[in-house]
Amino acid sequence: MMRFVCPQCKGGLAESGNAYGCATCARVFPVICGIPDFRLFADPYIGLEADRAKGQALEAATRGMSFANAVRHYYAITPDDPADLAERWTARALAEVAIAREMLAYSRGDGPLLDVGCSTGAALIAAGGGMGVDIAFRWLVLGQLRLREAGVAARLVCANAEHLPFADSMGARVISFDTLEHLRDAAQSLREMRRVGSSLLLTSNNRWAPLPEPHVHLWGVGWLPRRWQAPFVARRRPDLHPYGIQLRSAEEGRELARASGWVNARTEAAPLFAPQMGASARRVLALYRGLRLAPGMSLIAPRWMIRG
Ligand SMILES: [Zn+2]
Repeated sequence: MMRFVCPQCKGGLAESGNAYGCATCARVFPVICGIPDFRLFADPYIGLEADRAKGQALEAATRGMSFANAVRHYYAITPDDPADLAERWTARALAEVAIAREMLAYSRGDGPLLDVGCSTGAALIAAGGGMGVDIAFRWLVLGQLRLREAGVAARLVCANAEHLPFADSMGARVISFDTLEHLRDAAQSLREMRRVGSSLLLTSNNRWAPLPEPHVHLWGVGWLPRRWQAPFVARRRPDLHPYGIQLRSAEEGRELARASGWVNARTEAAPLFAPQMGASARRVLALYRGLRLAPGMSLIAPRWMIRG
């Protein structure tokens, strides 16, 4: 249903052995652990070769494990990620399928589902199939395990959101959850989603939310001028990777989407789901649900969403 093209020149690809080759620009893209690697650049945390090696090692070490244990294993062999945050990130990964199931109700269109920034494929499990793209090869390897455990047949592809390996005519129903703020070039990524997509449902964490920054769990990061954010995080959490996340306001997100070809993009406060929370948190969420569409809520909501 989906044909791969060269992520660089969009030329046709020939499959040979364990690789795809581009006849136009002569690039070769390997298939490793059954996952084609169409990246033109690596994610900020690990190089291309090291990421592939880590994915292969993970595949061998997690064979026969449950997905939950495989995630725990991942953090156990990744001492760069501090234990307090690893615990949060693990809980979030495990809750993702239930959250994605709720979010998918907001997506429309009938093209093939394409999840940009799919991580371990939770939304594909919620949807019962589709195509997932992520820059982190090692997480896609865990995603394969997760899909297998859930009995869902979906395709995982390692690629840059800025250089999608799909033909223009794909007509995809594009979803992208909490990925925009991590992208090297958000505008180019949105143009790529427009090129291959017929509809868009995108969420992103809100810069102005009166809450701790959701990735590093520090108060006030988003409220600082952008050039102060990385030094601030580095001072408070010298144990973390350099802070390269760019949180945006709902309005910034909407303008970026419109300028990138999603001319009818609309923004609103995103629905929030917390499947594992206690009664008091559920009451706060019920209050939020009642106020979500009130004027101005997208200014301060923890997360905003774009539909286009
Ligand atoms: Zn090419």
